[in-house]
Amino acid sequence: MTLRAGVVGYPIKHSLSPLLHGAWLDALGIDGVYAQIEVAPEAFADFVARNRGGGDLVGVNVTIPHKEAALALADVVDPVAAKAGAANLLLFHKDGTVEARNTDGIGLLDAFGVQAPGFDITAAPVLLLGAGGAARGAIAALVDAGVTNIRLINRTLHRAQVLAAQFPGVTVVPPEDAFSIPAANTAGAIINATSLGLNGGGGPHIHWPETRADVVAMDMVYKPLRTQFLSEAAAQNRRTVDGLEMLIRQAVPSFEAFYGAPPPLDRTDVRALALAALGEAP
Ligand code: NAP
Repeated sequence: MTLRAGVVGYPIKHSLSPLLHGAWLDALGIDGVYAQIEVAPEAFADFVARNRGGGDLVGVNVTIPHKEAALALADVVDPVAAKAGAANLLLFHKDGTVEARNTDGIGLLDAFGVQAPGFDITAAPVLLLGAGGAARGAIAALVDAGVTNIRLINRTLHRAQVLAAQFPGVTVVPPEDAFSIPAANTAGAIINATSLGLNGGGGPHIHWPETRADVVAMDMVYKPLRTQFLSEAAAQNRRTVDGLEMLIRQAVPSFEAFYGAPPPLDRTDVRALALAALGEAP
């Protein structure tokens, strides 16, 4: 029986997920499909109801704007998704239950593991830029991983305050001087979870020469791969972690949940495929 899964969003046409899952399915010879599924916000509850139990999908990844709705419609929710208030993975079990998980946080932490090996994210404060959905998922994962000191900065101060109040160990730093803030100077990791830098726009500015020499810069934006934020960090010899690695790593547990086998990371260079699709040099 063909195992059918996909990614649901609105709009959906720019998702790289079908490329990643498709390559892994081919490499493993699994009889499976991973499709792009466009569902408008008002139709999402119906979509989940149709696939509950009797539908032909084993599960779906969920992206903007359905992540909160996916969580609300599920019967079973994993702890990180519950803390994040959002799910990026729905599994349609045969008994009719719908399970929600959030693998974005795993993707974030695993990306650090791959591109900054040996780095201990719990060892020093983490400065997180942004207070949208991606930042929320990141805080849930960071807290879950044992990070006890997170500094949150966001253009809209109130949004950061609301988010910080929901988690232990999160303090809000008022934005000043376009993100060039003293709070950065003692951070062990600085993560851009804003959409600044997307499609080549200017990124948040950090005074990298004043940061710790061992700080790791992470940018969730992956179009372009080498954002201004990461380029400025790299120019000061700071280690960097990119958003494409996060995207690939969040897909790993999703693939296993859909198709019952871990993806063949050692045999498939999905990063090279994704870079080609993004028009980036390897
Ligand atoms: P979102 O919910 O719309 O939040 C956007 C965030 O960016 C908010 O904090 C917003 O601040 C801030 N922002 C937007 N424009 C700004 C500006 N001109 N100046 C300062 N701050 C600005 O979006 P999201 O879902 O959190 O996604 C954020 C980014 O992460 C996107 O680029 C997305 O593609 C990326 N992402 C990547 C991955 C991955 O796997 N690599 C996963 C998830 C998300 P305000 O609150 O003030 O509006």
